[in-house]
Amino acid sequence: MAKFDILITGAGAAGLSLAYHLSKSDLSNKRILLLDKDSKHTNDRTWCFWSDETPNFKSAREVFWDKLSFSGENFDKTSLIHPYRYYHIKGLDFYNELKAHLAYFPNIEFRQESVQKINTHKEITEVYTEQNRYEAAWVFNSIPQFSPAFPLPEDTVKQYFKGYFIKTQKDFFTKDTAKLMDFSMNTVSGEIKFFYVLPYHSREALVECTVLSKNRENPEEYRSGLEVYIQEKLGIQDYEILEEEKGIIPMTTKPMPSKSSERVFHIGTAGGMTKPSSGYTFRNIQKSSLAFVKKWQSNYENPPADFGKINKRFKFYDSLLLHIIKYQPQQFQQIMEALFQKNEMHKVLKFLDEETHWTEDMQLFMNLPWKPFLNVLYEQNLSWLTSGRRNQNWTGLPLGDTSHG
Ligand SMILES: Cc1cc2nc3c(=O)[nH]c(=O)nc-3n(C[C@H](O)[C@H](O)[C@H](O)COP(=O)(O)OP(=O)(O)OC[C@H]3O[C@@H](n4cnc5c(N)ncnc54)[C@H](O)[C@@H]3O)c2cc1C
Repeated sequence: MAKFDILITGAGAAGLSLAYHLSKSDLSNKRILLLDKDSKHTNDRTWCFWSDETPNFKSAREVFWDKLSFSGENFDKTSLIHPYRYYHIKGLDFYNELKAHLAYFPNIEFRQESVQKINTHKEITEVYTEQNRYEAAWVFNSIPQFSPAFPLPEDTVKQYFKGYFIKTQKDFFTKDTAKLMDFSMNTVSGEIKFFYVLPYHSREALVECTVLSKNRENPEEYRSGLEVYIQEKLGIQDYEILEEEKGIIPMTTKPMPSKSSERVFHIGTAGGMTKPSSGYTFRNIQKSSLAFVKKWQSNYENPPADFGKINKRFKFYDSLLLHIIKYQPQQFQQIMEALFQKNEMHKVLKFLDEETHWTEDMQLFMNLPWKPFLNVLYEQNLSWLTSGRRNQNWTGLPLGDTSHG
């Protein structure tokens, strides 16, 4: 049995980022163990995020765009997004960069072991893997199965996506502009479907098909959707698929406690760091782990109560939009089109990052169709009156992706 000060279960985006921020803090001398069942030697995902600051990680500084475009059914809009940049990280580059950085610290270890159980006691926490039993003063878990919020209900809305890294024979892509959302080929009824395009060169891009749905995954549908989009919308007949990417992100306002006992914290998707209405997580992970470590380093025996503050105002907006995604999916495209067509792109990004003042929110909302939102408020109040109780959710407001009875 080995003892550690800090044990991080799951060494993906959240686990590695926390270890990185710890290594840059006054806690860098603590004995830290990262456990992951995977070696993290494959390129299992691509992250994008926008920021007005230059990212810490070299892997995030190599590919970025100063312009974003949005396509609705009948319009295209391309804008500079100053003061932001849209950054891109290849999962494998990030894993390699952070593991290489952490390897300089003899007190920080990475072990490839599958975690089976986490037991918490007053002074210590035990972590069992297939091979070993570990003890640690503090555990930070990013494995969803050990988070009290998981498993999520079956009808949780999920963001399904499938992408091709493609190479063309001729120049096709405008390298300085990433396509954030393209709704022009949203043909699946009852589901929300859009595409995005991240060009690396004039002949290379990641083209991705995204579906928001509470139904089961339909890989064949996404594959054929992608092929039609590449051929018909992008006009590319002759291309080579270099790599494929696929994934699922849960979208929920279900409460996700960032702590399940005095000594066990939950981080990343397992700790509710995914923005419910968009699925973006990477930047939240960076912001919240940096803020947590900054506070923790001055009082190691008393870590901050949780990871980042929950902004009730934005959780309320997320609840409304998730409800629309779930029960009025045909309205979602109209809302996104109005949001992007009628507002400046950088203001929309600031809002999606939850950094706007409420007066800025109101200016954005003035340009949105109100009816779908009023419908949700009306329905929820009606169900509250008829059931005699409030549908409790994360915001404490009678809204959200609670089940529709
Ligand atoms: C394909 C894909 C693309 C995404 N793109 C974006 C994006 O562009 N922008 C964005 O903001 N967000 C994106 N996300 C959402 C989110 O940023 C990622 O899912 C991110 O990786 C979440 O970090 P995490 O640490 O919570 O989870 P993960 O990175 O998945 O890390 C969890 C780790 O736990 C390990 N693990 C699981 N079970 C065990 C076990 N029993 N024992 C030991 N280890 C275990 C896994 O191997 C994994 O390494 C994407 C998600 C996916 C799936």
